[in-house]
Amino acid sequence: MSSRNNPNRIKIHRSYTVIEISETLGVHPKTVRNWIHAGLSVIDETRPLLIQGADLKRHLKQKRKTYMQQCEPNELYCFKCKQPKAPDIKSLQFVAMPAGMAHMKGRCDECRGKANKYVSWRDVNQIWTELGGKLPIAEKHLILRGQKPLNYPLAKVFDDEKK
Ligand SMILES: [Zn+2]
Repeated sequence: MSSRNNPNRIKIHRSYTVIEISETLGVHPKTVRNWIHAGLSVIDETRPLLIQGADLKRHLKQKRKTYMQQCEPNELYCFKCKQPKAPDIKSLQFVAMPAGMAHMKGRCDECRGKANKYVSWRDVNQIWTELGGKLPIAEKHLILRGQKPLNYPLAKVFDDEKK
């Protein structure tokens, strides 16, 4: 499991130098400078540059969200490749979330890293068949965790699972 570039490692009440960010997140200092060029705010223009933890956290989360929005319907966001990638269908799982959503997760077909995104239960069957899967989706690919998702097209599958 990769913890690189994980916003949760950033403390919001402290400030960081470029080097500290680079070490905390395991990214190249050049990457951090690119974030600054791309709009990550710095506290002031004095050297060394200081970045407020809260600003950094917001920037990373926004970046991740943007990437996730760029995924094609049958792609996942790979945390290792840091971009949308096709998942390995054998690893793919749809986890029930409240409000008719599903957490779609699996392994990146390219690097085997963890990949995920959120989709609507309505789209689960279609995503599955686009990836070459056969319907109905096998139970091991559907995780309910006690949720009763609304508006999903898989009632029969879930009924079977309860037996
Ligand atoms: Zn990957």
